[in-house]
Amino acid sequence: MHTESTTIVIIGAGQAGGWAARTLREEGFAGRVVLIGDEAHPPYERPPLSKAVLAGEATPESVHLLDAAAIAALSIDWLASARVASIDRNARQLMLADASAIRYDKLILCTGGRARELDVPGAGLPGVHTLRTIDDAQRLGPALKRDARVAVVGGGWIGLEVAATARQRGAAVTVIETMQRLCERSVPQALSAYLQALHAAQGVEVLLGAAVTSFVPAASGGLDVMLSDGRSIPSDAVVVGIGLVPNDELARAAGLECDGGVLVDAQCRTSDPDIFAAGDVAVARNSWADRRLRLESWQNAQEQGIAAARSALGRDIHYDPLPWFWSDQHGTNLQIYGVPSPSHQMVVRGDPETGSFVFFYLDGERLVAALGGNAARDLRFARRLIERRTQVRAQDLADPGVSLAKL
Ligand SMILES: Cc1cc2nc3c(=O)[nH]c(=O)nc-3n(C[C@H](O)[C@H](O)[C@H](O)COP(=O)(O)OP(=O)(O)OC[C@H]3O[C@@H](n4cnc5c(N)ncnc54)[C@H](O)[C@@H]3O)c2cc1C
Repeated sequence: MHTESTTIVIIGAGQAGGWAARTLREEGFAGRVVLIGDEAHPPYERPPLSKAVLAGEATPESVHLLDAAAIAALSIDWLASARVASIDRNARQLMLADASAIRYDKLILCTGGRARELDVPGAGLPGVHTLRTIDDAQRLGPALKRDARVAVVGGGWIGLEVAATARQRGAAVTVIETMQRLCERSVPQALSAYLQALHAAQGVEVLLGAAVTSFVPAASGGLDVMLSDGRSIPSDAVVVGIGLVPNDELARAAGLECDGGVLVDAQCRTSDPDIFAAGDVAVARNSWADRRLRLESWQNAQEQGIAAARSALGRDIHYDPLPWFWSDQHGTNLQIYGVPSPSHQMVVRGDPETGSFVFFYLDGERLVAALGGNAARDLRFARRLIERRTQVRAQDLADPGVSLAKL
């Protein structure tokens, strides 16, 4: 039962936290909502930071999910630039870094993650950037000038999006990746090959199997990126995009079960029944992947933030989304539904060389994943086929003459 004297506290005023706070009010919760974030900005969406904001085509304010007036209108107590230092579960109380205390009845952890840093000499030099926040994007943007030499360390999603935006701004870009293919951790070989060709066609130099050993200030200005094979890449700016570290330290220190993030069930509930978690920090079993996943995506931040808030109010929740991720690079919109695995049969529709294609992944006669470029309509239908567990024939998927809508 929730009364006006009930307090629900949300730690982390990012996308998941913003949606959780808004949802509590939309569900009619009349108690106190406290939203605590250590950034100065109101909750915002991060995807444009590597795209339109970095390209100078959108303002930082345009990515705000809620502005200060909307937060006030929802009667949310928003504590900006405030860091939660610890959780005392017995006292149901949080300690902030300034030593003030806040009591809670229910707690929602939306602490997201931070950019992983490269542990090599010179990683702290000015000119070496990471990209997670609005402030990071504002520092990096001016460095992506026409003819600037930009080295991107890490050929994952963020690195490739930064590479595409830097090229769009006229910079000379080198991507340095330790693995033998791009986005190796998250996509099948076929998409890695497509991404490599896409970037090469746009003049991005891609170095695979290349490990950075240090960054060294160059006599002529800028930095030399030193590689383990003895090469050095002269650069005016470096962007390190080597993944995310989940901010689960608070939860671990409070004794909540964690495993590469905070473990939650389909009700977004942690191992403490009064504490919920959502977004990039949460790890949950996903039936579409048949294993635990920590989803780092816009879709999950929003939907799990909503689900956690509803669950905290005692609503009946079963959160088990078909994972969806998108990226925009060099004018190509890429989307991935589901979790492809090497054991699935791959079927191609369209032609990657034309820029419009879908790779379907089948488990027997069941479509389990689909990904593609500039094929939003086909992918929308593919999503329905996956979610409805429709039986399909490989030859129908491969034939552009067969309408997916009819399947
Ligand atoms: C540059 C970039 C591009 C992206 N592009 C895409 C894309 O194209 N498609 C897609 O699907 N996804 C994309 N994503 C991923 C998506 O933005 C994230 O999955 C989403 O932002 C996660 O939201 P979140 O609320 O869980 O975490 P976050 O947005 O990280 O928010 C967590 C907040 O909690 C704060 N916090 C942490 N600890 C504390 C504490 N102790 N006290 C107070 N506050 C704390 C953090 O500082 C942060 O403000 C992108 C991400 C980035 C960074």
